[in-house]
Amino acid sequence: MASIPATLIPGDGIGPEVTDATLQVLEAVGAPFAWETHKAGMAGIEACGDALPPETIASIRKTRLALKGPLTTPIGKGYRSSNVRLREEFQLYANLRPARTLVPGGRYEKIDLVLVRENLEGLYVGFEHFIPIGDDPHAVAVASGVNTRAGCRRVAEFAFDYAVKNGRKKVTIVHKANVLKALTGLFLDTAKDVARQYEGRVQSDERIIDACAMQLVLDPWQFDLIVTTNLFGDILSDEIAGLVGGLGMAPAGNIGADAAIFEAVHGSAPDIAGKGLANPLALMLSAAMMLDHVGHQDKAKRVRDAIDQVLCVDNIRTGDLKGRASTKEFAKAIVNRLR
Ligand code: NAD
Repeated sequence: MASIPATLIPGDGIGPEVTDATLQVLEAVGAPFAWETHKAGMAGIEACGDALPPETIASIRKTRLALKGPLTTPIGKGYRSSNVRLREEFQLYANLRPARTLVPGGRYEKIDLVLVRENLEGLYVGFEHFIPIGDDPHAVAVASGVNTRAGCRRVAEFAFDYAVKNGRKKVTIVHKANVLKALTGLFLDTAKDVARQYEGRVQSDERIIDACAMQLVLDPWQFDLIVTTNLFGDILSDEIAGLVGGLGMAPAGNIGADAAIFEAVHGSAPDIAGKGLANPLALMLSAAMMLDHVGHQDKAKRVRDAIDQVLCVDNIRTGDLKGRASTKEFAKAIVNRLR
């Protein structure tokens, strides 16, 4: 029964291919979503000259739930990222990125960690300008970061609350308060304050971002859940995706008080778009997070179990995981397992 309205944005590049594969898996598991399909990103520009068309926003405002493929954003010029605009429009303040080892035999075994990234503040507010000197209009570039106590508090509370509800033992607060004393000092102080409220239920510690990046490579097992600011979270989440085999395996949820959008961490991969090579796992795992979010943990578990079996028992994998399956063949193998 399709009883939960949800917005579907197939996205750009490999987006439609991985979305198609994910929809097949959701159908096979009996996911209850009634989809409203809309455009954004380059597809939105091509269809109606808007990277975030009003119909797409109106649909999410109604459903308050979306599954989104990757959206192309021009680098250094052009329109503003639709991803950032969606996060702002729906105040999706927490970016939840779980990562676990799916394919044994890689560089790291038994990775199981979660990153919670602040999604709206910091240097991503986009307060940037140039100062001209002489005949160089771009002689100086200035960017301002903005963190608020309220914004730091809500994302820290989200992280500690998630830890309690999901059996995570330790939250590591990651910052650069030794240098950016105001901007990330406020984040550290506020998160430590929240940590005190959870004393006895969840342990906590703290790391400076650069040391954390190194320790993730040397000994990732010391971390359980990391909470950090927007830019650091963006970088660390890709590093963590690398620990479990790359961007093709990394799902994410953008979660706010009133809406949630689930998406793969990877981009639109223009180099392989349309070739049937893309790994659809990240969007499938994002869809499993979406099932968790709406209370269908049983179906989410079935999807994850089927993925584990296809990867590790059937040994069917896409090219990025040194396999030979196409996107469609991989999706079919998971659907077969689910049936
Ligand atoms: P990318 O993630 O698209 O690609 C990086 C590399 O990883 C490429 O070699 C690509 O082929 C590979 N890759 C990515 N996803 C894969 C998958 N599912 N299966 C197999 N290989 C995969 O990053 P990029 O090249 O830096 O960005 C391309 C575009 O995507 C840009 O316009 C960028 O702004 C956009 N982007 C969007 C999102 C999003 O919508 N959430 C996130 C990141 C980048």
